[in-house]
Amino acid sequence: MERKFKLCYVSDECVACGTCMKVCPKNAISINNGIKAKVDPDKCIGCGKCAKVCPASVMRIGERI
Ligand code: SF4
Ligand code: SF4
Repeated sequence: MERKFKLCYVSDECVACGTCMKVCPKNAISINNGIKAKVDPDKCIGCGKCAKVCPASVMRIGERI
């Protein structure tokens, strides 16, 4: 049976402050080219911590197919 789990999406309004990166318990976030946070879906457990601390509120938790 295929497992479904949540992951985090980042919209283009990300200001690359790095706050989300510091709170992620799985080290799933990196700053892509210094302009936008990127989430590794294989590491993300969908805890939502990054979305809570993002000052620009650009992170969303979604369902992985
Ligand atoms: S939802 Fe949790 S595990 Fe996934 S990127 Fe955000 S802080 Fe990391
Ligand atoms: S906390 Fe928000 S604005 Fe800052 S790097 Fe992460 S997604 Fe981008």
